[in-house]
Amino acid sequence: MKTSSSRTTLESTQRKNPSMCQHQPPCPTAESNDREAARLMAHHPEQGWSLLCNGVLLFEDTGELLPDGQIIAPHRPLRSGQVMKAA
Ligand SMILES: [Zn+2]
Repeated sequence: MKTSSSRTTLESTQRKNPSMCQHQPPCPTAESNDREAARLMAHHPEQGWSLLCNGVLLFEDTGELLPDGQIIAPHRPLRSGQVMKAA
């Protein structure tokens, strides 16, 4: 009858697994080369970063911070030759 302890177990289990993707088809994992294709979970252009569904932090200079602490150097020029059309 220890409902509270089983609840704690559930929470710690969820913490162990950083994958919060519930999309179909599932987003690429942080280990995947295709990681930038994951959906945006949070977008903070004023701070220059976005959080992807797979836990990757994507910075506006295209640098990335992976969930395991690995840092990916920016790989695209900052200069934006393509202007997004605000329809
Ligand atoms: Zn997802």
